Amino acid sequence: MLNLPAMKPLSQRTETFTDSVIRRMTRIANACGAINLSQGFPDFDPPEALTRRLTEIAPVGPHQYAITFGAQNFREALSDKQFHFSGLRYDPQKEIVITCGSTEAMMASMMSVCNPGDKVVLFSPFYENYSADTILCGATPVYVPLSPVDLSFDADVLESAMKQPGVKALVLCNPANPSGKVFTREELSVIASLAVKYDLYVITDEVYEHIIYAPHRHTYISTLPGMFERTIECSSLSKTYSVTGWRLGYVLAAEPIMDRVKKVHDFLTVGAAAPLMEAAVTALRFDDSYYAGLQAHYTHMRQLFTDGLRNLGLRFSEPQGAYFVLIDISEFGYGSRSSRDGDKLPDERFCIDMAQKVGVAAVPGSSFFREPVDHLVRLHFAKRDETLYEALSRLENLKKLKR
Ligand code: GLN
Repeated sequence: MLNLPAMKPLSQRTETFTDSVIRRMTRIANACGAINLSQGFPDFDPPEALTRRLTEIAPVGPHQYAITFGAQNFREALSDKQFHFSGLRYDPQKEIVITCGSTEAMMASMMSVCNPGDKVVLFSPFYENYSADTILCGATPVYVPLSPVDLSFDADVLESAMKQPGVKALVLCNPANPSGKVFTREELSVIASLAVKYDLYVITDEVYEHIIYAPHRHTYISTLPGMFERTIECSSLSKTYSVTGWRLGYVLAAEPIMDRVKKVHDFLTVGAAAPLMEAAVTALRFDDSYYAGLQAHYTHMRQLFTDGLRNLGLRFSEPQGAYFVLIDISEFGYGSRSSRDGDKLPDERFCIDMAQKVGVAAVPGSSFFREPVDHLVRLHFAKRDETLYEALSRLENLKKLKR
């Protein structure tokens, strides 16, 4: 047996985290045969040109490591795509690294700018990885609430968070998971001017950059004055090309930051999958009609699903971007955390009952909030029409959960 030194338990750090509640709900959905509207991923196929390209590559490769920062042709295609959409030209040699999903992109970025004892500002609600990433870096999250009414933030509260000693970075998920908020240019300007004032990095998660509902528009915070040098932009191909299992993500950042991100990435994962990068160059070179089609498809899915939820008399948030809704479950009588039933919060108990008795899996809202929120559950609608119709028909049985 190896004689390893005892690991410092996570519980002895300033904050702790559990396993991912999102991924846990997928396992629960699979175990009880529920339609999985918890972890967000499509059940429709990626673009045909992309899968065709993958079959062409299979017999000829590449099958060995690409260079650690990502295949050259992939970085060049990504640089062109990013220039097309944001007007910023990232140098494929110096300012781009390809990662194993945006999950690694975020982690590598955070590790590149945080030392143990530092702080990271997060908006709440937030995608659960951000707090876990912060804690894994030995840093502490500082939360800034988004208003439950209109998802706005209070600039004074944000400033008092950002000016705290030890704060190194702010995480910006735009469009936001789980709230569906699309930050306006004015809001991004407030964040940007505070980042400049307090000399902080902004680590972005922009994986939903192409899933936006009119009249909302995506603004890359990296394009605002003073932000190119301090934005560490993370995104991925997962959502844009419906390939969440390919684990192709990336970081875009100015060279001095990227020098550090590259080192972390090199030792974390060596690199993303070479044959998948080769195939995905095809997708990065799609023309505008592809992105228009994606928007139209998501607009259709959002309409179908939210019309269905409205018909069921449910109360929910209407997303401006991304593909999630937060449903209010107060009317089901699961109580609040003060009246909790065993070790589960009311929304956790509700999601388990819903998966087992209604056959639809959702994510308990409490896993996204710093505040004691336990009356919301998150559902996603990146699914084929027939899946959404079947889910909506099963949700008619929600009333059986009423206590
Ligand atoms: N971003 C997606 C979600 O929030 C997928 C998360 C994941 O498991 N990588 O559901």
